[in-house]
Amino acid sequence: MQILRTDVAVVGAGPIGLELAVALKRAGIDYQHFDAKQIGYTVSWFAPGTRFFSSNERIAIAGVPLQTPEQGKATREEYLAYLRGVVEQFDLKIHTFEPVVNIARKAGGFEITTRPVGGPRVCAANKLVLVTGGTDRPRRLDIPGEDLPHVSHYFQDPHLYFRKKLLIVGGKNSAIEAALRCHHAGAQISLSYRRAALSEKSIKYWLLPEINGLIESGRMPAYFQTLPTRITENAVTLSRTTDGEWEGESDLPFDFVLLLIGYEQDDTLLRLAGVEQRGDCNAPLFDDRTMQTTVPNLYIAGTAVAGTQDKYRVFIENCHVHVERIMAALTGTPAPQAPQATAMPES
Ligand code: NAP
Repeated sequence: MQILRTDVAVVGAGPIGLELAVALKRAGIDYQHFDAKQIGYTVSWFAPGTRFFSSNERIAIAGVPLQTPEQGKATREEYLAYLRGVVEQFDLKIHTFEPVVNIARKAGGFEITTRPVGGPRVCAANKLVLVTGGTDRPRRLDIPGEDLPHVSHYFQDPHLYFRKKLLIVGGKNSAIEAALRCHHAGAQISLSYRRAALSEKSIKYWLLPEINGLIESGRMPAYFQTLPTRITENAVTLSRTTDGEWEGESDLPFDFVLLLIGYEQDDTLLRLAGVEQRGDCNAPLFDDRTMQTTVPNLYIAGTAVAGTQDKYRVFIENCHVHVERIMAALTGTPAPQAPQATAMPES
């Protein structure tokens, strides 16, 4: 079996993983970089034309300006093109489509087993940085019919729903943005949300007036205090609840169902490596001056630091400092005096 040897292994090639790779390369540190999929994979499953909520300078990486043709916030396509450009500009070598399947601690370092096409291989590294994100898989309802072909946990192209009856489940930004975009694309949208009303604090201010207007005028039926409990080929059973009490159910006809109820972290690598995790979000414990976890020589960066977020506080934009802290720790220089890695709102 082929064995790679390196000083630093980096897992995850999203924006912060790429920013770290540029920093390592600039510092002349030997590293190997792996991703289970393509670079920027989480961004790649956004619906076509989705615009980032964050402004360009906050999601730009490695000091490379992110320019857009009309000076607006970058779209999915513009940002993926930008990431590809950064990789080309710095000639970053990334083992894409090479998932890490095991992490063993060996003599103060790590033996990392990956599974590229053609069979497993091993990378022996002195240090390991996990930059694996926090939204690896969609949250599930675990109800009958959830995996039928007309049900999706990902918002794809609004065109798909043109002149179709679409039920969108969820009540925060993904659900509301998808509801408005699909409405504009000519779909007949209904919303199912488990609470009594949309939370003004949790929805972007530029989405709120229009969704409220559509709901209040009756053009977009909203089934508040409901949860889907069964999905069949042409109907969804919505069960009603008030103050936690079940009050009955209705079967309503829909052509498609979008379950936009948030995302979860896949913490398999954290567990394999033995990183201590804590709290409702199952977040890894780490020293926020160095980003070192409870496992010596294992660092964490990017949104992976927050586990499965229930209230989103950690985004690309407030993770750049993780790279500076890790580089300081690896090179033995003082940690930067930077703002906390949490609690900075999306712009
Ligand atoms: P989210 O903020 O976690 O919201 C999940 C929604 O699903 C909430 O309304 C939640 O209800 C509901 N929900 C959760 N579990 C449920 C269950 N078991 N049954 C029924 N409903 C359930 O997730 P999100 O809306 O996907 O947003 C994720 C992040 O992406 C946020 O930071 C958001 O701002 C960001 N985002 C960015 C863009 C963009 O950049 N263009 C677009 C969309 C989203 P409660 O309200 O009761 O918690």
